[in-house]
Amino acid sequence: MASEELPITPSLWPEPPPKEKVEEYLAELEKGPWPSHVTELKKTKYPVYIYGMGLVAGATPWATSAAKAPGIYSGVLSRMSHPWTRITPPVFEDHARVLIPSAQVFTTTLLRFLIEASRRYGWGLLQFIGGTGDVVINVDREKLIDLDIFLRRIGLDIGGSGDVMRNTVSCPGPLLCPYAIYDTLKARDFTYSCLIDWATYPQFPYKIKFKYSGCPIDCLKAQARADYVIIGTWRGAPDIDDEKLRQWIEEGGDVEELVRSCPTRAITWDGSRLSIDGSKCVKCMECIRRAYPAIKPGKERGLTVLIGGTIKSRSGPKLAKVLIPFIPLPSPDKLEEALMTVFQVVRDRIVPKWDEEGWRRERVGDTLIRVTWQRFLRDFAKFDPDLAAKITKATPTEPYYSYGITFFNMSEEQKQKYLEDLRKAMETWQ
Ligand code: SF4
Repeated sequence: MASEELPITPSLWPEPPPKEKVEEYLAELEKGPWPSHVTELKKTKYPVYIYGMGLVAGATPWATSAAKAPGIYSGVLSRMSHPWTRITPPVFEDHARVLIPSAQVFTTTLLRFLIEASRRYGWGLLQFIGGTGDVVINVDREKLIDLDIFLRRIGLDIGGSGDVMRNTVSCPGPLLCPYAIYDTLKARDFTYSCLIDWATYPQFPYKIKFKYSGCPIDCLKAQARADYVIIGTWRGAPDIDDEKLRQWIEEGGDVEELVRSCPTRAITWDGSRLSIDGSKCVKCMECIRRAYPAIKPGKERGLTVLIGGTIKSRSGPKLAKVLIPFIPLPSPDKLEEALMTVFQVVRDRIVPKWDEEGWRRERVGDTLIRVTWQRFLRDFAKFDPDLAAKITKATPTEPYYSYGITFFNMSEEQKQKYLEDLRKAMETWQ
């Protein structure tokens, strides 16, 4: 059936707006002193007129479509001009999601290659999407395979859409941040080198997201946004450099304020010496943020692995729970070894079992709520019973443990305690 013959309910879709009105609307968007996205789009092969039709009619001018190419199973999204636009033959808009370098850091050469790819195989239009970290290239349908070959030659790939491992994101880590406890960029690259087929071949009940945060501040908000979260942390108290602390105080640092800012009262100041009780420290980074480099993350560093964070999913938004409390990272060159420990649990045990038992469009965080946390640790993570019991009963003083499950899953007693703790914490906030 040709697209113009598709049944259209008049009350549901608008009539195509008159050509003059669309052109007038687009011309309006090119006026003014600011850069105009319409002017910029006109420099590409993007069908700006169809975009204008959508704006005037107040409805999307695009309907879903499908572009297929041998060997490309994920990462290509397709649309065609919607039947209400009455455009014949329909215009197809296909775009490819490119798996990009860690922390979205591009060399000039790589950017030039991407521009060249978009001109050679598509419409000369690149989109950089902040939240997901994707780069999207509009591509001519018949040139899809050529684009894929081109990208692979420069070390990139197409993927990350559908029921796959989505674009794995890391914070900039040691590239920009002095707090980084481990090399998040290297960790992300290592994930792709071990799990690239997860990103390019749909094979799961639903999507999988990995996120890497270099320290417990978790700028990425990975704990709320990813199925598998790897956060740099340390054991015991933060590290104090007495000499630098003295300098910090001489330069106006308020040590009383520093003591007050600790949410667990782990810091004490006797007038000449600062001490921190490591058993009380919940790794909130507040003292480090205030007095760096006089106070730094502790020397015994490692990774904490969390599981099941999502913003949107079957059982609503939830924070990830601690799966592996601490994997020691005695030196930076042991990172791959530490990550292999994570993959032995996630890749070899949890994901195959989730693949078997997970419902359609069920994130792993929803599965663990459905099957219960205890059973998840036992049958999915295959932890021995002692370790599973220890993780289940971990005390609230350990970071990330206490309320890693959604509020509505708590018992009435837990809810009251949570609200009371929250109220007390708020009293101490400045
Ligand atoms: Fe206190 Fe947080 Fe510093 Fe730990 S990291 S000592 S909890 S302020």
